[in-house]
Amino acid sequence: MSWRDLRCGDVGPELVGRRLTLAGWVATRRDHGGLVFVDLRDHTGVCQLVINPERTPDAHAVAHELRNEFVVQAEGELVARAPEAVNPSLPTGAVELQVDRFEILSRSTPLPFQLDEEHVDETLRLRYRWLDLRREQMQRNLRLSHTVVQSIRKTMDDRGFIDVWTPGMTRGTPEGARDFLVPVRLQPGRFFALAQSPQLFKQLCMIGGIDRYYQIATCWRDEDLRADRQFEFRQLDLEMAFVERDDVLDVMEAVVVDAFAAVEREPPARPFPRMSYGDAIARYGTDKPDLRFGLEIQDATEVTRGSEFGVFAGAEAVRFIVIPTEYSRAELARLEEVAKEWGARGLAYIVHGADGEVRSPIAKFLSERELAAFAAPPGSTVLFGAGEPPIVARVLGGLRLHVARELELAEDSNVFHWVIDFPLFERDEDTHQWTFLHHPFTAPIPGDEDFEGDPGAAKSQHYDLIWNGWELGSGSIRIHRSEVQAAVFRVMGVSDEDVRSKYGFLLEALEMGAPPHGGFAMGLERFVALMAGEPDIRQIVAFPKVSSGSDPLTGAPTPMPADVLRELGIEAIPDEQGS
Ligand code: ASP
Repeated sequence: MSWRDLRCGDVGPELVGRRLTLAGWVATRRDHGGLVFVDLRDHTGVCQLVINPERTPDAHAVAHELRNEFVVQAEGELVARAPEAVNPSLPTGAVELQVDRFEILSRSTPLPFQLDEEHVDETLRLRYRWLDLRREQMQRNLRLSHTVVQSIRKTMDDRGFIDVWTPGMTRGTPEGARDFLVPVRLQPGRFFALAQSPQLFKQLCMIGGIDRYYQIATCWRDEDLRADRQFEFRQLDLEMAFVERDDVLDVMEAVVVDAFAAVEREPPARPFPRMSYGDAIARYGTDKPDLRFGLEIQDATEVTRGSEFGVFAGAEAVRFIVIPTEYSRAELARLEEVAKEWGARGLAYIVHGADGEVRSPIAKFLSERELAAFAAPPGSTVLFGAGEPPIVARVLGGLRLHVARELELAEDSNVFHWVIDFPLFERDEDTHQWTFLHHPFTAPIPGDEDFEGDPGAAKSQHYDLIWNGWELGSGSIRIHRSEVQAAVFRVMGVSDEDVRSKYGFLLEALEMGAPPHGGFAMGLERFVALMAGEPDIRQIVAFPKVSSGSDPLTGAPTPMPADVLRELGIEAIPDEQGS
């Protein structure tokens, strides 16, 4: 016996007159004085069933028992609806199934929420995710995700990449997050780390002659959860031997453009524009600028040197943005709060009124030359940042985004671009020690290999891919010579012993014939979420965790009995709840 001849969304006028068996979930049941109408649903859509008490008293009796989300099978004849009953907004709206036989395959207890209910608490949805997954939005998102993954696999295959599986349980790889640890019963007191990425394994694949590696790799990072972050996520992870930066960028652009084509959307034009890290910070205050709108940061440090306005005179950097709106005092007070959240002490401004008036508490301190530099069209506001360059960049970058969101300045378009030429090292804010920006395996640009004398001046072959201000992923050309790798660890102050114990295998491998190589990793859920227009990656993940880090469905994580822990060589310290 087959459960169904067709799926619910597949019925149409061309099948009128056919006897069909359909199966699915009861989306709604409507009793119309004798006639019972049921919307039968599956992942393809909805088909209307009609049960007529005079034609089929048995089926009618069954229909009375139906509740939402029962699973039923219905057999009958597909008929055209009366013209006045046609529903043009439904793809199957011209037909209905006249049911002769009806069977309840499985029942549902009363539902914790209705599938079409809005504003249902998200934890409740996740607790009953099997119900939530039946919603059209989740069905659409998971299928979109599948299409994107299929497209990626095809692009990779077409370009000679092979899928190589690398271990999830490994030694920590420095990707800037904490590791999740896995205790090992056979060696009590020892731990694997769950891979933050396959970084070192993919480099070893290159040294192993794989040439072109890729994987839809699961990565685990112990970080605070956010709208765009889960503990575990997937990335398209790839690595290529005998390549330069542009070869990697070319592959990634093809991945993006092919994926757009696969979901039948207008792909962004190639090549994607490139911007240096220095430019991005100077003009947009961030290394992942949203280029869908202007509001570029302008520099006024030279003009304000020796200003009568003390804040400007003493500042290492004075920069500003011009907003195409005339803000009121109250609005400026609100923006000042935003600026403070980003680290500013206050917010200086000049309002150029539509009436031609200049309103600003600082104008009286500014010279003609300064005022001329801050000239702007009537009906606009100049907002300033003054102080240390990184803070000024952060404040103006933050204000720029905030204002653009409020004024809805971002055009509805897909702007992809690359950020390149990052510094190789930066100072750690707490320890002031030199540290990596991306990871310590990133190569300096040719000519900057001698970085030990002046680490801060060296540029790296690191690149980021940005979509509308979201960082989709990062990659780099890697160090393929062990002495350069050792020098990076030296600059970072990693002890010889740590290098030997943590990365000894890498240095050894680099000493046994490592080809030049480079690669990339793109966050898959983030990419799909942006494709789907979802603000939160939880809508793309079948079974996500909530922001506390728990899974409301299974109740994980859970405490473990003491004897289980003992076997692993672990003793748990009870938390405040005593669990
Ligand atoms: N391993 C890096 C990451 O996960 C990506 C790369 O450099 O290929 O961000």
